Amino acid sequence: MPAGSGSASRHRAASHRKVDAGFVLDTRSLGRRPGTMREQQRTVTTAERIGLDLIYIPEGAEVELDLQLQAVSEGVLVTGMVTAPTAGECSRCLEPFTGEVRLHLTELFAYPDSTTEQTTEDDEVYRMDDDLIDLEPVIVDAIGLELPLQPLCTPDCAGLCPECGVRMAIAGSDHGHEILDPRWAGLAKFATESPGDGSPDADADPDR
Ligand SMILES: [Zn+2]
Ligand SMILES: [Zn+2]
Repeated sequence: MPAGSGSASRHRAASHRKVDAGFVLDTRSLGRRPGTMREQQRTVTTAERIGLDLIYIPEGAEVELDLQLQAVSEGVLVTGMVTAPTAGECSRCLEPFTGEVRLHLTELFAYPDSTTEQTTEDDEVYRMDDDLIDLEPVIVDAIGLELPLQPLCTPDCAGLCPECGVRMAIAGSDHGHEILDPRWAGLAKFATESPGDGSPDADADPDR
């Protein structure tokens, strides 16, 4: 039975600060025989917001994990879907909006003392912590890449009126302003000002 050899060292996991909860998965029931698979479904309530400034998974949101854990020779391969609600602010009209983000994960977590663990940097391949997998850094990284830098409330958000700042979605399509083109506005200012305080030579114009 292959699990026997490692059981002594694995007792340390019991006293480790991490436990099988939240984004931390305990893989002991999976074992380490390559090819062994286990389904893992879990709903995790976020302790803090995850994401970007304008769009993020809010604190207290429920993140759905629908994963497969597969033991491979160097570690545990985690694949599957992560689904979470998002909240944000439209980068075009500045209105708050909510949505959903879905991530497809494919991530190897290397066993402690595996060849992969010893021949890679820890920012290249995630590591297991004894028998535990901590998905939180994976999800934080992946969500940061998945979410748009300039989120929109709707794909065709019309944004704000450049003249008065009203949201075009509520202003209506016939919203507009009787404002002169800025170039003409400049000329108009010149035209009204020139008779009064125009050039001092105006009165001395020999053509008058
Ligand atoms: Zn918008
Ligand atoms: Zn306007």
